[in-house]
Amino acid sequence: ARKHDGKNGVLVYHPSLMDAVRERLEIEAAIERGLREDLFDVYLQPIIDLGTGRIAGFEALMRLDQPEESAFASSRIIEIAEETGLIGKIGERVLEKAAQHLKRLSALDGIESTYLALNFSPLQFEPSLPTRLAALLLKYEIASTRIVIEITEAVLLADNAEMHTVMAQLSAFGCRIALDDFGTGYSSLSYLNRFQVDIVKIDQSFTRTLASDQPEVRRKSRMLIKGIRTISQQMGCTVVAEGIENNEQWLSLRRLGIDHGQGYLFSAPLSIDEMMGMLEEKSEVKNQNSARSTERH
Ligand code: C2E
Ligand code: MG
Ligand code: MG
Ligand code: MG
Repeated sequence: ARKHDGKNGVLVYHPSLMDAVRERLEIEAAIERGLREDLFDVYLQPIIDLGTGRIAGFEALMRLDQPEESAFASSRIIEIAEETGLIGKIGERVLEKAAQHLKRLSALDGIESTYLALNFSPLQFEPSLPTRLAALLLKYEIASTRIVIEITEAVLLADNAEMHTVMAQLSAFGCRIALDDFGTGYSSLSYLNRFQVDIVKIDQSFTRTLASDQPEVRRKSRMLIKGIRTISQQMGCTVVAEGIENNEQWLSLRRLGIDHGQGYLFSAPLSIDEMMGMLEEKSEVKNQNSARSTERH
């Protein structure tokens, strides 16, 4: 990238700004194409009960089918979609696909009562959300108590009557509210006091430093996680750890009394077909084992 400082009458040229504009236009085009050609889908990542090793739920993560060589990260797509107002349309597709997928998974043994965690941006947290969600759950015959609504500090910052009404309606309807990326916001702890929260999702950055090669960093991470866990559980919240990538992190989190966890160690987010395949394989192994053990008796 060339740089001129604008002195001596040289025109200031900002290649980085040009790149940003180009990236933005490309993402906008990808979103519009994705909506037109139905290229948005939802991948599912299992959330594990760290005590029993069973699947407690699934987080629905938006995926746009795009050419590998020019694929944009979901978080960038979501950001641009929020800025251009297209997040509403994407959210509709995401909701529909997630409900479809959960319905398919629920036919499997042990999955019928798992929860589905859905991510929502501030703009999606609108007054029509509870009724739209209710209609969708009716259509796919899913109990509202299986739904977890994941929000970040960005949603809570609005802190207006409308937002409170939507939260209260969702809760009254039986959905649970999860605070995502907990611990990274400006006033994470105060949200536990001001809002009705059911689940606290400890941000991946805390999980990452649990396996640091510096003992002091590891020790401090353990203390932070323990503190968050104690406060959250005393307030009646379930605690979920994100970004578990290795055994060391998993064992530490279990020892620290964290309820649930998700991460590449257990499974990356998978397409519905991949997830069905994985779960069917698992239940076959289980059935074979139990068949073998009944033979022995
Ligand atoms: P998030 O809700 O905090 O989701 C967790 C992110 O961590 C996901 O990234 C997931 O793929 C990734 N992840 C899972 N396990 C691991 C691990 O072991 N290690 C690491 N390093 N990462 C892991 P993803 O899918 O790229 O999504 C990024 C963010 O985009 C999400 O963060 C969420 O804020 C947003 N997002 C995703 N789907 C939706 C959606 O449907 N609607 C809205 N509004 N936001 C969404
Ligand atoms: Mg999330
Ligand atoms: Mg998160
Ligand atoms: Mg996040």
